[in-house]
Amino acid sequence: MKWFVLIFALITAPVVAAPKAETVAAYRAIAAQDARLAVIGHRLANANAAFCSHKMGHNPGWVLHDIAQYPDADAAKSAFGFTQPVEVASVVAGGDAETQGVKAGDGLIRIGNRDVASFTLSKKPSVERLETVRKFLDDVWGPSDLAPLRVKRGTETRELLFQLKPVCASYFWVDASNKIEGGADGDRVRITSALIDFVGSDDELAAVAAHELAHNLLGHPTGSAETRKSKSITATELEADRLSVWLLTNAGYDPQGALQFWQRCGPKSCVGLFRYPGWKKRMATIKAEMDVIAKTLAQNGRRDPPLLSAFRKAQ
Ligand SMILES: [Zn+2]
Repeated sequence: MKWFVLIFALITAPVVAAPKAETVAAYRAIAAQDARLAVIGHRLANANAAFCSHKMGHNPGWVLHDIAQYPDADAAKSAFGFTQPVEVASVVAGGDAETQGVKAGDGLIRIGNRDVASFTLSKKPSVERLETVRKFLDDVWGPSDLAPLRVKRGTETRELLFQLKPVCASYFWVDASNKIEGGADGDRVRITSALIDFVGSDDELAAVAAHELAHNLLGHPTGSAETRKSKSITATELEADRLSVWLLTNAGYDPQGALQFWQRCGPKSCVGLFRYPGWKKRMATIKAEMDVIAKTLAQNGRRDPPLLSAFRKAQ
């Protein structure tokens, strides 16, 4: 009789398909790329903080993700656990989050006086809730010198109090795309997963990230190549290239990475918008800027980029 019940239960139990292994692996791969880019963004934003007029309240050195951003929620659970809807995907070594004991998998459940669970989510998959979280964090870290957050690991909840430490504004994120592209929209830096796969080293990836960060720090107009005049594109691209060399140097990256990137990418015309104003011209501009830096004295180990200095004065 017992066997009959067991067999009956097995036959009538709903069939739950396991998430596809390749989807789980793909989600983990994107998270690993996000973690790699976060390290670079954290270094660039902190090392150049003294010189940026466009700042944000804080960069604790973490990557957050939301289960709702993944089209396959079961695969996301298999890949990361996800006991809370918004969790820490990774922490940057030496960042404030790591210093406070935050670990990948910790759930973010409260920001200031708002529960993350109360944030709207009108569609899935989407980053709608994650964007709201990002804006809330900016608000909390803006006016206050202490940002009360609550995280949860298992059944344990903990309060975090980050000290306000303004850094260069930019939120670095990986766009899961098979096009080799990067972009800047004023306060965010977008790097595609294909571009991260394409670069040959962290110095090369830092060069691309610093170039996009430079656009944001100089308040360059945003938009596609088609919506911008080619003349202004040439000017702003060369400005971003010049400033990127300073940002890299201050952050301890080898600016040769920028030259290596163009040597790899240029002859193949690999990057759409990056083609303006031509990779040889860009390499010459970068080399010239490296010569300027070599002749500029560092103060406290860092150099004030002339383009940022002029931008600050114009504010
Ligand atoms: Zn650019």
